[in-house]
Amino acid sequence: MYTQTDELATQYGSINLGRGAPDFDGPPVVRHAALTAMRSGLNQYSASAGHPELLRVLAETAASDGLDYDPGAEITVTAGATEALAVALETLLKPGDEVLMLEPFYDSYPALVLRAGGIPVPVPLVRHGSAYVLDVDAVAAAVTARTKVLLLNTPHNPTGWSASADELKALADIVLRHGLHVVCDEVYAELVYGSVDGDEMRHPSIASLPGLRERTIVCSSASKSLSVCGWRVGWAYAPRRLSSALRHAHRMLSYCAPVPLQLGVAEGLTWARETGWFDQQRTVYRERRDALVSGLTAAGLRPVVPTSGYMVIAQTGTVLPHDPMVANEVLARDHGVTGLPLSGFFENPERASGLLRFAFCKELAVIEEAGRRLAALSSTDAVPSERSRKIHAGSE
Ligand code: PMP
Repeated sequence: MYTQTDELATQYGSINLGRGAPDFDGPPVVRHAALTAMRSGLNQYSASAGHPELLRVLAETAASDGLDYDPGAEITVTAGATEALAVALETLLKPGDEVLMLEPFYDSYPALVLRAGGIPVPVPLVRHGSAYVLDVDAVAAAVTARTKVLLLNTPHNPTGWSASADELKALADIVLRHGLHVVCDEVYAELVYGSVDGDEMRHPSIASLPGLRERTIVCSSASKSLSVCGWRVGWAYAPRRLSSALRHAHRMLSYCAPVPLQLGVAEGLTWARETGWFDQQRTVYRERRDALVSGLTAAGLRPVVPTSGYMVIAQTGTVLPHDPMVANEVLARDHGVTGLPLSGFFENPERASGLLRFAFCKELAVIEEAGRRLAALSSTDAVPSERSRKIHAGSE
């Protein structure tokens, strides 16, 4: 999917809204701190669990959310959230254990679960009007004697859903009732846009609920919050009981995250907290979300308005072919915009029919230009157009 998206964007010179990576740099302070660390000779291994400075800052961040983690024993710096998720699952799973995950799911999840010997068990988020909602009863009904882990992604990619306080509580009840563990992927925790009245806030962690800290491994990274996806600096918060196994898995897998970049992230997280930068970022992203949503709406692509993250799911509806790969090609070629087909985000790829994902972690001018290009869609013929039929048949 990502390959098709990138290839289409290159081939047709289209605006690539398929990739969920910013087209801008994060704050300069982050890069300066990393360069300073590099120039001052911090270019060898740090302690495997992480540079003490970043561990200290991560403990402070958790404390500001009311969570107490010992930086010397309960926090581990990893190569992005991806490695944090991998080692968390490896720590918790035995062969044949079932892992509940909300579908659509971030496309790495099934592979990460299988790699750790587990069995992915998707539970659909339900499309309700213009939003996705959690069906708590469906989560409860999916629990079996073999269920070991709830792999929870909130805020959620790709739907933009994020769990409300009531939903977190309901999920926590299920976890406690069945003695499960939670691996919580919170990479978009700083990107919650709140309610329509403009109320913006940081996402609460399920680990802060009574009884959950001891059963939860929280995974996150600087990729989204500081716009440094390429740095590969992430982390896991795990209770002492689980942390040494997790740290061992991390030591064997990557040993440590890039050291100067760990220091850049430490400086960036401190600076962002002290200056209120994350609040400013939320305002910036809210404006970009609104621009993208209005462009998609005007094009007839019926977007789901996300309350978090930086992805929007749109429907091909009557203006594009239902096959998302074909729709994406038509979009790239005829309209100069590329999205992402979601087949990798569902157990059964047919459930991705009619859906494309667009990312708004792009400069506002780029999103607005995409909107102008997409506007032409609403005046094109209903599908299938002659052109899209030919693409589908492979004759063009
Ligand atoms: N989880 C989710 C939900 C994501 O969207 C992403 C990145 N797109 C990741 C994890 C991976 O994050 P990282 O870059 O920190 O490995």
